Amino acid sequence: MPASPRRKSVVVSVGPVKVGGAHPVVVQSMTNTDTADTAATVNQVMELARAGSELVRVTVNTDDAAKAVPKIVDTLRTFGVDVPIIGDFHYNGHLLLKKYPECARALSKYRINPGNVNIGKKHDDNYRTMVECAVEYGKPVRIGVNWGSLDSQLLTQMMDENSKAAEPLDAMEVTMRAVVESAIRSAEAAERYGLAHDKIILSAKVSNVQNVVAVYEMLAARCDYPLHVGLTEAGLGSKGIVATSAALSILLQQGIGDTIRASLTPLPNGDRTEEVIVCQQILQALGLRSFTPQVAACPGCGRTTSTFFQDLADQIQTYLREQMPIWREHYSGVEEMKVAVMGCVVNGPGESKHADIGISLPGTFEDPVAPVYIDGKLSKTLRGDKIVEEFREILDTYVARRYSAAELAEPVVG
Ligand code: SF4
Repeated sequence: MPASPRRKSVVVSVGPVKVGGAHPVVVQSMTNTDTADTAATVNQVMELARAGSELVRVTVNTDDAAKAVPKIVDTLRTFGVDVPIIGDFHYNGHLLLKKYPECARALSKYRINPGNVNIGKKHDDNYRTMVECAVEYGKPVRIGVNWGSLDSQLLTQMMDENSKAAEPLDAMEVTMRAVVESAIRSAEAAERYGLAHDKIILSAKVSNVQNVVAVYEMLAARCDYPLHVGLTEAGLGSKGIVATSAALSILLQQGIGDTIRASLTPLPNGDRTEEVIVCQQILQALGLRSFTPQVAACPGCGRTTSTFFQDLADQIQTYLREQMPIWREHYSGVEEMKVAVMGCVVNGPGESKHADIGISLPGTFEDPVAPVYIDGKLSKTLRGDKIVEEFREILDTYVARRYSAAELAEPVVG
């Protein structure tokens, strides 16, 4: 069953990237380097962009970070990396954007958390200043509400009103409604301060799957701004990945979500690009976008007593991902290729036939041969200790033949 049609929204341009409308759901990420460390930040942005991040956010929290932003953007462009850089501002964004116009100019979008500038206070000058900077420099803004830093006055007011209601809601329900209300009111205020309707993206993040779904369903029903969807503080390892996948999948299946991020906590010195890959895998698993050929591998069982087929599946998956930056340039459509790596004859040939290219390895007590299927037909049988290398060669030949750009570039006659 395909996902529901995308919810209708206006289109916001973030540098060259279009967000919203019928444009593909955009994958974004955030650095965790000290932004003032230009070299470290440039390197990490390049890694994230190479992994497929289409927007990258950096913290802009100090004078040194704001001073570094134009250098970071210039260096990236020198290296040919044109990913838009978004500035993440809290508390002092109004000061930094005013003090460092080069920073304000270099960024492609500002992320403002209305809960920790003074929105809701009698004089919301700080919020207004940031919005006016966005207007001055022609930048879009993501108004990003987070329940951890929610506008306290609004929450208190809504809690008071609720306590007087005939049938009061529970406190969590009121909090979720306050998150939505804060996002909508902040967007309305931004428009009052001169920001165009098509310069606003909204997000409203909470850290529980059911709550994030409820919040975004409410938000989607109340506005036509593009929505940046994510589960905040998703957490470490499989917990973070599963919770993010669950929340994003439910929403994307309903057509809700124009940009996504997986807020995973990496292990110390862990790979920051994991959050990009998780987003890509979610979109690809839902059939919304294709990024890299997919490997179908069986889980293995008592019929596979060696780890040979696990190693092969892993090596092939890694190989496919590594090849993609090159293949993408030359072989249009290769990201939709399906590869099967199976552990024995029980399901191996069947699954391999359903893939574009598949290999069925020998299980325990089976003949030491590995039939290779191409486009559903038995093509070759590999044997010996060079199976991995030979299968990779077959894969390369298949990609070059099937997805050749020259083939696709044939002139259309008639
Ligand atoms: S294909 Fe074979 S090895 Fe893989 S799970 Fe099925 S029975 Fe086990």
